[in-house]
Amino acid sequence: MREIKHWIDGRALAGGGASRLPVFDPATGEQQAYVVPATEQETGRAVATALAAYPGWRAASLSRRAEVMFRFRELVDANRKEIAALVSAEHGKTVADAEGEVARGLENAEFAAGAPHLLKGGYSEQAAGGVDVYSIRQPLGVVAGITPFNFPAMVPMWMFCNALVCGNTFVLKPSEKDPSVSLLLADLLRQAGLPDGAFNVVQGDRTAVETLLSHRDVQAVSFVGSTPVARHIYETGTRRGKRVQALGGAKNHMVVLPDADIGAAADAAVSAGYGSAGERCMAVSVVVAVGAGADPLVAAIRDRIARITVGPATDPAAQMGPLISAEHRDRVAGYLAEPGTAEVVVDGRDDPASRGPGFFLGASLVDRVGTDTPLYTDEIFGPVLSVVRVDTYEQAVALVNDNPYGNGTAIFTRDGGAARRFQYDVVCGMVGVNVPVPVPVAYYSFGGWKSSLFGDLHMYGPEGLQFYTRGKVVTARWPDPATSAVDLGFPKVR
Ligand code: NAD
Repeated sequence: MREIKHWIDGRALAGGGASRLPVFDPATGEQQAYVVPATEQETGRAVATALAAYPGWRAASLSRRAEVMFRFRELVDANRKEIAALVSAEHGKTVADAEGEVARGLENAEFAAGAPHLLKGGYSEQAAGGVDVYSIRQPLGVVAGITPFNFPAMVPMWMFCNALVCGNTFVLKPSEKDPSVSLLLADLLRQAGLPDGAFNVVQGDRTAVETLLSHRDVQAVSFVGSTPVARHIYETGTRRGKRVQALGGAKNHMVVLPDADIGAAADAAVSAGYGSAGERCMAVSVVVAVGAGADPLVAAIRDRIARITVGPATDPAAQMGPLISAEHRDRVAGYLAEPGTAEVVVDGRDDPASRGPGFFLGASLVDRVGTDTPLYTDEIFGPVLSVVRVDTYEQAVALVNDNPYGNGTAIFTRDGGAARRFQYDVVCGMVGVNVPVPVPVAYYSFGGWKSSLFGDLHMYGPEGLQFYTRGKVVTARWPDPATSAVDLGFPKVR
Protein backbone atom coordinates (compact mmCIF):
# COMPACT_ATOMS: atom_id res chain seq x y z
CA MET A 1 0.00 0.00 0.00
CA ARG A 2 1.31 3.44 -1.01
CA GLU A 3 2.23 6.00 1.64
CA ILE A 4 1.38 9.61 0.84
CA LYS A 5 4.32 11.41 2.39
CA HIS A 6 5.09 14.76 3.97
CA TRP A 7 7.05 17.41 2.05
CA ILE A 8 9.78 19.09 4.06
CA ASP A 9 12.75 21.10 2.83
CA GLY A 10 12.06 20.46 -0.84
CA ARG A 11 11.52 16.70 -0.77
CA ALA A 12 9.02 14.00 0.12
CA LEU A 13 9.56 12.39 3.49
CA ALA A 14 8.04 9.23 4.96
CA GLY A 15 6.20 9.69 8.23
CA GLY A 16 7.72 8.28 11.40
CA GLY A 17 4.55 8.08 13.48
CA ALA A 18 2.84 4.87 14.52
CA SER A 19 -0.73 5.42 13.26
CA ARG A 20 -2.08 5.30 9.71
CA LEU A 21 -5.07 7.03 8.13
CA PRO A 22 -6.64 5.36 5.08
CA VAL A 23 -7.14 7.19 1.79
CA PHE A 24 -10.01 5.68 -0.18
CA ASP A 25 -11.02 5.61 -3.79
CA PRO A 26 -14.59 6.88 -3.25
CA ALA A 27 -15.69 5.42 -6.59
CA THR A 28 -14.86 1.86 -5.53
CA GLY A 29 -14.92 2.12 -1.76
CA GLU A 30 -11.46 0.51 -1.64
CA GLN A 31 -8.53 1.89 0.30
CA GLN A 32 -5.83 2.99 -2.16
CA ALA A 33 -3.18 4.61 0.05
CA TYR A 34 -2.52 5.91 3.55
CA VAL A 35 -0.95 8.78 5.38
CA VAL A 36 1.10 8.57 8.54
CA PRO A 37 -0.13 11.57 10.54
CA ALA A 38 2.65 13.99 11.39
CA THR A 39 3.80 13.83 14.98
CA GLU A 40 4.38 16.96 17.00
CA GLN A 41 8.11 16.67 16.26
CA GLU A 42 7.58 16.29 12.49
CA THR A 43 5.26 19.30 12.37
CA GLY A 44 7.79 21.22 14.46
CA ARG A 45 10.47 20.25 11.95
CA ALA A 46 8.36 21.60 9.07
CA VAL A 47 7.92 24.90 10.93
CA ALA A 48 11.65 25.07 11.74
CA THR A 49 12.46 24.45 8.07
CA ALA A 50 10.07 27.20 6.98
CA LEU A 51 11.57 29.54 9.57
CA ALA A 52 15.09 28.85 8.32
CA ALA A 53 14.02 29.52 4.72
CA TYR A 54 12.24 32.76 5.63
CA PRO A 55 15.09 35.32 5.66
CA GLY A 56 16.36 34.20 2.24
CA TRP A 57 12.96 34.09 0.59
CA ARG A 58 11.91 37.40 2.12
CA ALA A 59 15.10 38.97 0.76
CA ALA A 60 14.41 37.70 -2.76
CA SER A 61 13.37 40.65 -4.90
CA LEU A 62 9.71 41.21 -5.66
CA SER A 63 10.42 40.49 -9.31
CA ARG A 64 12.06 37.21 -8.41
CA ARG A 65 9.11 36.15 -6.23
CA ALA A 66 6.68 37.15 -8.97
CA GLU A 67 8.75 35.19 -11.49
CA VAL A 68 8.35 32.04 -9.38
CA MET A 69 4.59 32.59 -9.44
CA PHE A 70 4.66 33.11 -13.22
CA ARG A 71 6.54 29.84 -13.65
CA PHE A 72 4.28 28.03 -11.19
CA ARG A 73 1.26 29.27 -13.16
CA GLU A 74 2.77 27.85 -16.36
CA LEU A 75 3.54 24.53 -14.67
CA VAL A 76 0.02 24.21 -13.25
CA ASP A 77 -1.34 24.95 -16.70
CA ALA A 78 0.94 22.39 -18.36
CA ASN A 79 0.08 19.76 -15.74
CA ARG A 80 -3.60 20.56 -15.34
CA LYS A 81 -4.74 17.15 -16.55
CA GLU A 82 -2.43 15.32 -14.16
CA ILE A 83 -3.50 17.51 -11.22
CA ALA A 84 -7.18 17.03 -12.10
CA ALA A 85 -6.73 13.25 -12.40
CA LEU A 86 -5.19 13.13 -8.94
CA VAL A 87 -8.06 15.19 -7.51
CA SER A 88 -10.63 12.88 -9.14
CA ALA A 89 -8.86 9.73 -7.97
CA GLU A 90 -9.02 10.67 -4.30
CA HIS A 91 -11.97 13.05 -4.10
CA GLY A 92 -14.19 11.34 -6.67
CA LYS A 93 -15.38 14.44 -8.55
CA THR A 94 -15.62 14.19 -12.33
CA VAL A 95 -12.59 15.07 -14.43
CA ALA A 96 -14.33 18.13 -15.92
CA ASP A 97 -15.17 19.36 -12.42
CA ALA A 98 -11.61 18.75 -11.23
CA GLU A 99 -10.24 20.64 -14.25
CA GLY A 100 -12.51 23.55 -13.29
CA GLU A 101 -11.05 23.45 -9.79
CA VAL A 102 -7.50 23.57 -11.18
CA ALA A 103 -8.39 26.49 -13.46
CA ARG A 104 -9.84 28.48 -10.55
CA GLY A 105 -6.76 27.70 -8.45
CA LEU A 106 -4.45 28.81 -11.25
CA GLU A 107 -6.15 32.24 -11.26
CA ASN A 108 -4.61 32.79 -7.84
CA ALA A 109 -1.09 32.24 -9.16
CA GLU A 110 -1.89 34.76 -11.91
CA PHE A 111 -3.09 37.29 -9.37
CA ALA A 112 -0.08 36.71 -7.12
CA ALA A 113 2.27 37.29 -10.06
CA GLY A 114 0.98 40.89 -10.04
CA ALA A 115 2.19 41.46 -6.49
CA PRO A 116 4.96 43.93 -7.43
CA HIS A 117 2.23 46.31 -8.49
CA LEU A 118 -0.25 45.35 -5.76
CA LEU A 119 2.23 45.70 -2.89
CA LYS A 120 3.18 49.29 -3.72
CA GLY A 121 2.97 51.48 -0.66
CA GLY A 122 1.82 55.07 -0.28
CA TYR A 123 4.08 58.12 -0.15
CA SER A 124 3.28 61.57 1.19
CA GLU A 125 5.87 64.16 0.37
CA GLN A 126 6.20 67.14 2.72
CA ALA A 127 3.85 65.76 5.39
CA ALA A 128 5.57 68.37 7.56
CA GLY A 129 8.39 70.74 6.70
CA GLY A 130 11.14 68.56 5.22
CA VAL A 131 9.36 65.40 6.37
CA ASP A 132 8.07 62.62 4.13
CA VAL A 133 5.82 59.77 5.27
CA TYR A 134 5.49 56.46 3.51
CA SER A 135 3.89 53.09 4.11
CA ILE A 136 5.25 49.67 3.28
CA ARG A 137 3.87 46.18 3.74
CA GLN A 138 6.11 43.39 5.02
CA PRO A 139 5.60 39.62 5.26
CA LEU A 140 4.70 37.96 8.55
CA GLY A 141 7.13 35.03 8.61
CA VAL A 142 5.97 31.41 8.75
CA VAL A 143 2.27 31.05 7.98
CA ALA A 144 0.14 27.91 7.98
CA GLY A 145 -2.77 26.72 5.86
CA ILE A 146 -5.27 24.05 6.89
CA THR A 147 -7.54 22.92 4.10
CA PRO A 148 -10.71 20.82 3.52
CA PHE A 149 -11.25 17.75 1.38
CA ASN A 150 -13.60 19.29 -1.15
CA PHE A 151 -11.06 21.40 -3.11
CA PRO A 152 -7.69 19.76 -2.50
CA ALA A 153 -5.96 21.77 -5.25
CA MET A 154 -7.81 25.10 -5.38
CA VAL A 155 -8.11 25.99 -1.69
CA PRO A 156 -4.39 25.51 -0.95
CA MET A 157 -3.69 27.73 -4.00
CA TRP A 158 -6.10 30.36 -2.57
CA MET A 159 -3.66 30.57 0.32
CA PHE A 160 -0.07 29.82 -0.63
CA CYS A 161 0.18 31.81 -3.89
CA ASN A 162 -0.41 35.10 -2.11
CA ALA A 163 1.38 34.10 1.09
CA LEU A 164 4.56 33.11 -0.78
CA VAL A 165 4.68 36.04 -3.17
CA CYS A 166 4.49 38.40 -0.19
CA GLY A 167 7.70 36.80 1.11
CA ASN A 168 6.29 34.44 3.76
CA THR A 169 7.15 30.77 4.02
CA PHE A 170 4.38 28.23 4.31
CA VAL A 171 3.34 25.01 6.03
CA LEU A 172 0.28 23.31 4.54
CA LYS A 173 -1.82 20.73 6.38
CA PRO A 174 -4.10 19.35 3.67
CA SER A 175 -7.16 17.21 4.24
CA GLU A 176 -6.18 13.66 5.17
CA LYS A 177 -8.92 12.38 2.85
CA ASP A 178 -7.32 13.46 -0.46
CA PRO A 179 -3.75 14.50 0.31
CA SER A 180 -1.77 13.48 -2.83
CA VAL A 181 -2.29 16.64 -4.84
CA SER A 182 -0.51 18.71 -2.16
CA LEU A 183 2.73 16.87 -3.01
CA LEU A 184 2.33 17.48 -6.72
CA LEU A 185 1.79 21.19 -6.09
CA ALA A 186 4.85 21.22 -3.80
CA ASP A 187 6.94 19.67 -6.55
CA LEU A 188 5.66 22.20 -9.12
CA LEU A 189 6.64 25.03 -6.75
CA ARG A 190 10.12 23.49 -6.52
CA GLN A 191 10.34 23.25 -10.30
CA ALA A 192 9.20 26.88 -10.52
CA GLY A 193 12.28 27.91 -8.55
CA LEU A 194 10.92 28.27 -5.02
CA PRO A 195 13.81 27.68 -2.61
CA ASP A 196 13.68 24.47 -0.59
CA GLY A 197 12.01 24.94 2.77
CA ALA A 198 9.79 27.83 1.69
CA PHE A 199 6.84 25.48 1.18
CA ASN A 200 6.24 22.41 3.33
CA VAL A 201 3.42 19.92 3.72
CA VAL A 202 2.56 17.93 6.83
CA GLN A 203 0.00 15.19 6.41
CA GLY A 204 -2.36 14.28 9.17
CA ASP A 205 -5.28 15.38 11.24
CA ARG A 206 -5.86 17.34 14.40
CA THR A 207 -2.51 16.56 16.05
CA ALA A 208 -0.69 18.41 13.29
CA VAL A 209 -3.27 21.21 13.41
CA GLU A 210 -2.93 21.65 17.17
CA THR A 211 0.87 21.76 16.85
CA LEU A 212 0.64 24.49 14.23
CA LEU A 213 -1.87 26.41 16.34
CA SER A 214 0.31 26.34 19.41
CA HIS A 215 3.68 26.85 17.71
CA ARG A 216 5.26 30.17 18.63
CA ASP A 217 6.94 30.48 15.22
CA VAL A 218 3.66 30.30 13.25
CA GLN A 219 2.52 33.88 12.77
CA ALA A 220 -0.76 33.36 10.96
CA VAL A 221 -3.22 30.59 10.16
CA SER A 222 -5.58 30.36 7.20
CA PHE A 223 -8.27 27.73 7.60
CA VAL A 224 -11.07 26.48 5.37
CA GLY A 225 -13.43 23.76 6.60
CA SER A 226 -16.52 23.19 8.69
CA THR A 227 -17.90 25.81 11.08
CA PRO A 228 -17.22 24.05 14.41
CA VAL A 229 -13.57 23.51 13.49
CA ALA A 230 -13.27 27.03 12.00
CA ARG A 231 -14.55 28.51 15.27
CA HIS A 232 -12.08 26.39 17.27
CA ILE A 233 -9.16 27.39 15.03
CA TYR A 234 -10.06 31.06 15.24
CA GLU A 235 -10.54 31.09 19.00
CA THR A 236 -7.41 29.03 19.75
CA GLY A 237 -5.17 30.79 17.24
CA THR A 238 -6.16 34.33 18.21
CA ARG A 239 -5.88 33.49 21.92
CA ARG A 240 -2.26 32.62 21.16
CA GLY A 241 -1.70 35.93 19.43
CA LYS A 242 -1.85 34.68 15.85
CA ARG A 243 -3.55 36.32 12.92
CA VAL A 244 -6.36 33.96 11.82
CA GLN A 245 -8.84 33.81 8.98
CA ALA A 246 -11.12 30.77 9.36
CA LEU A 247 -13.73 30.07 6.72
CA GLY A 248 -16.55 27.74 7.75
CA GLY A 249 -19.60 25.97 6.42
CA ALA A 250 -22.61 27.22 4.54
CA LYS A 251 -26.27 26.89 3.71
CA ASN A 252 -26.68 28.76 0.47
CA HIS A 253 -30.13 29.95 -0.57
CA MET A 254 -31.13 30.52 -4.17
CA VAL A 255 -34.18 32.79 -4.28
CA VAL A 256 -36.36 32.40 -7.37
CA LEU A 257 -38.84 35.23 -7.92
CA PRO A 258 -42.07 34.50 -9.84
CA ASP A 259 -40.88 36.49 -12.88
CA ALA A 260 -37.69 34.40 -13.33
CA ASP A 261 -37.16 32.22 -16.38
CA ILE A 262 -38.12 28.87 -14.89
CA GLY A 263 -35.97 26.80 -17.27
CA ALA A 264 -32.87 28.87 -16.61
CA ALA A 265 -33.50 28.83 -12.84
CA ALA A 266 -33.94 25.03 -12.87
CA ASP A 267 -30.72 24.59 -14.90
CA ALA A 268 -28.89 26.75 -12.36
CA ALA A 269 -30.38 24.99 -9.31
CA VAL A 270 -29.45 21.56 -10.66
CA SER A 271 -25.92 22.63 -11.67
CA ALA A 272 -25.24 24.36 -8.35
CA GLY A 273 -27.04 21.81 -6.18
CA TYR A 274 -25.54 18.61 -7.57
CA GLY A 275 -22.21 19.72 -9.08
CA SER A 276 -19.43 17.95 -7.17
CA ALA A 277 -22.22 15.92 -5.48
CA GLY A 278 -23.20 18.99 -3.46
CA GLU A 279 -19.82 18.96 -1.68
CA ARG A 280 -19.06 22.62 -2.35
CA CYS A 281 -19.22 25.35 0.24
CA MET A 282 -20.91 27.47 -2.43
CA ALA A 283 -23.35 24.73 -3.50
CA VAL A 284 -26.97 25.76 -3.55
CA SER A 285 -28.65 23.68 -0.86
CA VAL A 286 -31.95 25.56 -0.51
CA VAL A 287 -34.13 26.82 -3.33
CA VAL A 288 -36.51 29.48 -2.02
CA ALA A 289 -39.43 29.48 -4.44
CA VAL A 290 -41.41 32.69 -4.17
CA GLY A 291 -45.12 32.65 -5.06
CA ALA A 292 -46.69 30.94 -8.05
CA GLY A 293 -43.45 29.79 -9.67
CA ALA A 294 -42.90 26.97 -7.16
CA ASP A 295 -44.84 24.13 -8.85
CA PRO A 296 -43.32 24.57 -12.33
CA LEU A 297 -39.86 25.06 -10.80
CA VAL A 298 -40.01 21.84 -8.77
CA ALA A 299 -41.26 19.97 -11.87
CA ALA A 300 -38.44 21.42 -14.00
CA ILE A 301 -35.78 20.44 -11.45
CA ARG A 302 -37.23 16.91 -11.18
CA ASP A 303 -37.11 16.51 -14.99
CA ARG A 304 -33.47 17.56 -15.08
CA ILE A 305 -32.47 15.21 -12.23
CA ALA A 306 -33.78 12.30 -14.25
CA ARG A 307 -31.14 13.07 -16.89
CA ILE A 308 -28.13 13.24 -14.50
CA THR A 309 -25.65 10.39 -14.94
CA VAL A 310 -24.06 9.35 -11.66
CA GLY A 311 -20.81 7.39 -11.91
CA PRO A 312 -17.06 7.24 -11.37
CA ALA A 313 -14.73 9.88 -12.77
CA THR A 314 -13.26 7.22 -15.05
CA ASP A 315 -16.60 7.13 -16.93
CA PRO A 316 -16.59 10.06 -19.38
CA ALA A 317 -20.40 10.11 -19.32
CA ALA A 318 -20.58 10.66 -15.55
CA GLN A 319 -21.79 14.09 -14.44
CA MET A 320 -21.79 13.47 -10.71
CA GLY A 321 -19.39 11.36 -8.67
CA PRO A 322 -19.51 9.72 -5.25
CA LEU A 323 -19.37 11.32 -1.81
CA ILE A 324 -16.07 11.40 0.06
CA SER A 325 -16.66 8.53 2.49
CA ALA A 326 -19.11 5.80 3.45
CA GLU A 327 -19.93 7.57 6.74
CA HIS A 328 -20.65 10.83 4.96
CA ARG A 329 -22.83 9.12 2.32
CA ASP A 330 -24.83 7.38 5.08
CA ARG A 331 -25.23 10.60 7.01
CA VAL A 332 -26.51 12.45 3.93
CA ALA A 333 -28.87 9.59 3.04
CA GLY A 334 -30.22 9.77 6.59
CA TYR A 335 -31.89 13.09 5.79
CA LEU A 336 -33.92 11.34 3.09
CA ALA A 337 -34.96 8.61 5.51
CA GLU A 338 -36.32 11.17 7.97
CA PRO A 339 -37.71 14.11 6.01
CA GLY A 340 -40.27 15.13 8.67
CA THR A 341 -43.27 16.79 7.00
CA ALA A 342 -41.34 17.44 3.79
CA GLU A 343 -42.07 15.64 0.54
CA VAL A 344 -39.22 13.63 -1.01
CA VAL A 345 -39.73 14.28 -4.73
CA VAL A 346 -36.62 12.41 -5.90
CA ASP A 347 -34.87 9.95 -3.57
CA GLY A 348 -31.23 9.53 -4.58
CA ARG A 349 -31.08 6.20 -2.77
CA ASP A 350 -33.08 4.82 -5.72
CA ASP A 351 -30.33 5.69 -8.20
CA PRO A 352 -28.66 2.42 -9.34
CA ALA A 353 -25.22 3.87 -8.50
CA SER A 354 -26.29 4.16 -4.83
CA ARG A 355 -26.21 0.36 -4.55
CA GLY A 356 -22.43 0.49 -4.83
CA PRO A 357 -19.64 -0.20 -5.06
CA GLY A 358 -18.35 3.17 -3.92
CA PHE A 359 -19.84 5.96 -1.86
CA PHE A 360 -22.52 7.05 -4.32
CA LEU A 361 -25.84 8.71 -3.62
CA GLY A 362 -28.06 9.94 -6.43
CA ALA A 363 -29.35 13.50 -6.75
CA SER A 364 -32.23 14.08 -4.34
CA LEU A 365 -34.98 16.71 -4.20
CA VAL A 366 -37.10 17.47 -1.15
CA ASP A 367 -40.03 19.90 -1.40
CA ARG A 368 -41.95 21.87 1.25
CA VAL A 369 -39.07 21.62 3.72
CA GLY A 370 -39.87 23.04 7.16
CA THR A 371 -37.36 25.62 8.32
CA ASP A 372 -37.28 24.08 11.81
CA THR A 373 -36.20 20.63 10.55
CA PRO A 374 -32.63 19.28 10.24
CA LEU A 375 -33.02 19.20 6.44
CA TYR A 376 -33.06 22.99 6.61
CA THR A 377 -31.00 23.77 9.70
CA ASP A 378 -28.03 21.43 9.03
CA GLU A 379 -25.29 21.86 6.45
CA ILE A 380 -25.87 18.53 4.65
CA PHE A 381 -22.96 18.84 2.19
CA GLY A 382 -24.31 16.32 -0.28
CA PRO A 383 -26.62 16.01 -3.30
CA VAL A 384 -29.82 16.90 -1.43
CA LEU A 385 -31.61 20.02 -2.62
CA SER A 386 -34.35 21.39 -0.37
CA VAL A 387 -37.19 23.59 -1.62
CA VAL A 388 -38.76 26.07 0.78
CA ARG A 389 -41.89 27.82 -0.47
CA VAL A 390 -42.70 31.39 0.57
CA ASP A 391 -45.27 33.94 -0.56
CA THR A 392 -43.24 37.14 -0.73
CA TYR A 393 -39.80 38.60 -1.48
CA GLU A 394 -39.63 39.85 2.13
CA GLN A 395 -40.11 36.33 3.49
CA ALA A 396 -37.38 35.04 1.18
CA VAL A 397 -34.88 37.69 2.34
CA ALA A 398 -35.80 37.06 5.98
CA LEU A 399 -34.90 33.39 5.50
CA VAL A 400 -31.46 34.24 4.11
CA ASN A 401 -30.84 36.83 6.81
CA ASP A 402 -32.03 34.71 9.75
CA ASN A 403 -29.85 31.78 8.72
CA PRO A 404 -26.76 31.45 10.90
CA TYR A 405 -24.58 30.93 7.80
CA GLY A 406 -23.86 33.72 5.33
CA ASN A 407 -21.52 32.36 2.69
CA GLY A 408 -23.27 32.78 -0.68
CA THR A 409 -26.77 33.47 -1.95
CA ALA A 410 -28.33 34.14 -5.33
CA ILE A 411 -31.45 35.68 -6.77
CA PHE A 412 -33.07 34.66 -10.04
CA THR A 413 -35.29 37.32 -11.59
CA ARG A 414 -35.74 39.47 -14.69
CA ASP A 415 -36.37 42.52 -12.49
CA GLY A 416 -33.22 44.64 -12.12
CA GLY A 417 -34.77 46.67 -9.32
CA ALA A 418 -35.54 43.53 -7.30
CA ALA A 419 -32.01 42.23 -7.87
CA ARG A 420 -30.48 45.49 -6.72
CA ARG A 421 -32.69 45.56 -3.64
CA PHE A 422 -31.65 41.96 -2.87
CA GLN A 423 -27.96 42.81 -3.11
CA TYR A 424 -28.59 45.68 -0.68
CA ASP A 425 -30.76 43.70 1.75
CA VAL A 426 -29.04 40.35 2.19
CA VAL A 427 -26.74 39.64 5.13
CA CYS A 428 -24.30 37.46 3.23
CA GLY A 429 -20.74 37.73 1.93
CA MET A 430 -21.17 36.73 -1.73
CA VAL A 431 -24.21 37.40 -3.88
CA GLY A 432 -25.18 36.10 -7.32
CA VAL A 433 -27.62 37.82 -9.64
CA ASN A 434 -28.80 35.07 -11.97
CA VAL A 435 -25.48 33.39 -11.10
CA PRO A 436 -25.95 30.43 -8.75
CA VAL A 437 -22.35 29.90 -7.56
CA PRO A 438 -20.94 33.42 -7.14
CA VAL A 439 -17.34 32.50 -6.30
CA PRO A 440 -15.43 35.77 -6.82
CA VAL A 441 -12.66 35.87 -9.42
CA ALA A 442 -9.13 35.89 -7.97
CA TYR A 443 -8.79 39.69 -8.06
CA TYR A 444 -11.68 40.09 -5.63
CA SER A 445 -11.74 38.29 -2.28
CA PHE A 446 -13.70 35.26 -1.13
CA GLY A 447 -15.51 35.08 2.17
CA GLY A 448 -18.83 34.68 3.88
CA TRP A 449 -20.39 36.46 6.83
CA LYS A 450 -21.83 35.23 10.12
CA SER A 451 -20.86 31.61 10.96
CA SER A 452 -19.25 31.16 7.53
CA LEU A 453 -16.15 33.18 8.41
CA PHE A 454 -14.31 33.97 11.63
CA GLY A 455 -11.85 36.82 11.33
CA ASP A 456 -11.74 40.13 9.56
CA LEU A 457 -10.12 39.53 6.22
CA HIS A 458 -11.55 37.42 3.44
CA MET A 459 -9.40 34.98 1.51
CA TYR A 460 -7.28 35.60 -1.62
CA GLY A 461 -7.35 38.70 -3.82
CA PRO A 462 -6.59 42.10 -2.26
CA GLU A 463 -7.66 40.99 1.23
CA GLY A 464 -5.39 37.95 0.92
CA LEU A 465 -2.39 40.21 0.34
CA GLN A 466 -3.43 42.25 3.34
CA PHE A 467 -3.76 39.13 5.48
CA TYR A 468 -0.26 37.92 4.63
CA THR A 469 1.47 41.25 5.22
CA ARG A 470 1.54 43.87 7.94
CA GLY A 471 1.81 47.57 7.46
CA LYS A 472 4.67 49.75 8.53
CA VAL A 473 4.71 53.53 8.28
CA VAL A 474 7.99 55.43 8.06
CA THR A 475 8.28 59.11 8.91
CA ALA A 476 11.56 60.43 7.50
CA ARG A 477 13.51 63.64 7.59
CA TRP A 478 16.87 64.22 5.94
CA PRO A 479 17.74 67.45 7.69
CA ASP A 480 20.02 70.10 6.56
CA PRO A 481 22.38 70.22 9.59
CA ALA A 482 22.15 73.98 9.47
CA THR A 483 18.43 73.91 10.39
CA SER A 484 18.64 71.26 13.17
CA ALA A 485 17.66 72.36 16.71
CA VAL A 486 16.46 70.86 20.01
CA ASP A 487 12.64 70.99 20.33
CA LEU A 488 10.93 69.17 23.22
CA GLY A 489 7.40 69.93 22.01
CA PHE A 490 5.19 67.21 20.48
CA PRO A 491 5.77 67.19 16.72
CA LYS A 492 3.21 69.29 14.84
CA VAL A 493 2.56 69.12 11.13
CA ARG A 494 1.19 72.65 10.59
P1 NAD B 1 -13.35 19.73 8.29
O1 NAD B 1 -13.65 20.92 9.14
O2 NAD B 1 -13.73 18.39 8.80
O3 NAD B 1 -11.75 19.64 8.02
C1 NAD B 1 -11.04 20.74 7.52
C2 NAD B 1 -9.58 20.61 7.96
O4 NAD B 1 -9.51 20.67 9.39
C3 NAD B 1 -8.93 19.30 7.55
O5 NAD B 1 -7.61 19.56 7.19
C4 NAD B 1 -9.01 18.46 8.81
O6 NAD B 1 -7.97 17.52 8.92
C5 NAD B 1 -8.92 19.48 9.92
N1 NAD B 1 -9.69 19.11 11.11
C6 NAD B 1 -10.83 18.38 11.16
N2 NAD B 1 -11.27 18.28 12.43
C7 NAD B 1 -10.40 18.96 13.20
C8 NAD B 1 -10.33 19.25 14.59
N3 NAD B 1 -11.25 18.80 15.43
N4 NAD B 1 -9.31 19.99 15.04
C9 NAD B 1 -8.38 20.47 14.19
N5 NAD B 1 -8.41 20.25 12.85
C10 NAD B 1 -9.40 19.51 12.36
O7 NAD B 1 -13.97 20.02 6.85
P2 NAD B 1 -14.06 19.04 5.60
O8 NAD B 1 -15.05 17.98 5.90
O9 NAD B 1 -12.71 18.66 5.13
O10 NAD B 1 -14.65 20.05 4.49
C11 NAD B 1 -16.01 20.31 4.35
C12 NAD B 1 -16.40 21.57 5.09
O11 NAD B 1 -15.60 22.67 4.65
C13 NAD B 1 -17.83 21.99 4.84
O12 NAD B 1 -18.39 22.44 6.05
C14 NAD B 1 -17.70 23.13 3.84
O13 NAD B 1 -18.77 24.05 3.83
C15 NAD B 1 -16.45 23.77 4.32
N6 NAD B 1 -15.82 24.57 3.27
C16 NAD B 1 -15.90 25.92 3.38
C17 NAD B 1 -15.36 26.73 2.40
C18 NAD B 1 -15.44 28.21 2.51
O14 NAD B 1 -14.75 28.85 1.73
N7 NAD B 1 -16.19 28.79 3.43
C19 NAD B 1 -14.73 26.14 1.28
C20 NAD B 1 -14.66 24.75 1.21
C21 NAD B 1 -15.21 23.98 2.22
